[in-house]
Amino acid sequence: MAAAEVAPEVLQDIEKDRLSKSEKKTLEELGFLVKSREAESRELLRYVDELNAENETFTAIVVLNLDCNLGCTYCYEGKRKGKHYMSAETAGDFIDFIKSHVIKGKEEINLIFYGGEPLLSVDAIVRIAKDIRTFANKRGILFGFTLTTNGTLLTPQIVKKLKPLGLRSASTTLDGPKKVHNSSRPFKSSTGSFDTIVRNIKSVCSLINVHVGGNYTRDRYREFPLLLDYLLKNGLGPDKIASVEFSPVFQESKKFATPDFHDGCSSVNEPWLRGASLYLREEILRRGFSTQKVVPSVCAVEQRDNFVVNYDGTLYKCPGLVGRKRYCVGSLKTGIHDYQKIHQVGKWKNKKCLACAYLPLCFGGCGYMKLLHDGTMRGINCRKEYFDKTLAQFVAQDIKYDL
Ligand code: SF4
Ligand code: SF4
Repeated sequence: MAAAEVAPEVLQDIEKDRLSKSEKKTLEELGFLVKSREAESRELLRYVDELNAENETFTAIVVLNLDCNLGCTYCYEGKRKGKHYMSAETAGDFIDFIKSHVIKGKEEINLIFYGGEPLLSVDAIVRIAKDIRTFANKRGILFGFTLTTNGTLLTPQIVKKLKPLGLRSASTTLDGPKKVHNSSRPFKSSTGSFDTIVRNIKSVCSLINVHVGGNYTRDRYREFPLLLDYLLKNGLGPDKIASVEFSPVFQESKKFATPDFHDGCSSVNEPWLRGASLYLREEILRRGFSTQKVVPSVCAVEQRDNFVVNYDGTLYKCPGLVGRKRYCVGSLKTGIHDYQKIHQVGKWKNKKCLACAYLPLCFGGCGYMKLLHDGTMRGINCRKEYFDKTLAQFVAQDIKYDL
């Protein structure tokens, strides 16, 4: 994707068709001008299919357990959490599934170990990674995996054990400065987890890339820059942390929500979120940390070779939908069944989205958010209001900080 900052007069010249032929040609070549809206729509209609056809990576999020050593106040796994672990038999089924489904046309296998807390299942990670790595090596396919972990068990010993098996990076979470984090992400014993996580990040960040995420609420987001200052002061600057990204806590639907948490937002269009997301991104960037650039993105539900494997061997398309039987798309034993209709695949192929300038960033929005908000995945989850108020400034940040 290309972005450029231009004077308002240049935009007016473009809109009023006052450009010279050669100026037009240059802008077309750079992707800023299209020949016609119809041609652009046609191209976009093909975009996801082409992306799927050209994708050489098979990606699976592997939910190894639904257990956790933390008791986060907003945990989205809510009542589904418990001592549920992937059995040795299911791990074997998963390895077989990869071997029989992945090889055709694929150059890479990418696994994301997830939970609950994946590092409560180190033996399963070792078994799966060893087996698939050997399989991939024999066929000349790349193999690697990442961890989405709360960070409390991310010790150098574990990292040294997993790195030779393909561990590439870990994404962990710090919900703001110590006091804020400890109130939202305590250990089950109620003691704070902040110091443990920071200590672990410090001792593994020279071994693997560590990405830091944080979940904020309307009441606490202004305190998050204090975390960034703390990291900088404690030797965890941009040279040590691969990226930082803060996201709002979204509110679960009543059915699955933890009964005592009501501070999350239920739509990206909530007005406070615009200011909060722009402010936090600026604070991250101005301290020199890297963060996600504005790029076209397609929901995993639309991506053909992208699945979530639950601990019990059932398959899903989105981590938010795991455990909701209606959205199960098959199992390791029986394979994948047709999920297009129930997941509204291609929901963006409608008049409104095809005429929308935000389509390449949105593709009809997040079905999971739609489900949380409206109780159904049917229809689009329109983020136009949010993009109208934020996108130009996000792109300006990308240019200013040379992302
Ligand atoms: S439905 Fe939403 S949360 Fe789920 S994969 Fe798509 S964009 Fe992500
Ligand atoms: S912002 Fe709304 S109209 Fe635009 S692509 Fe997204 S869902 Fe469709």
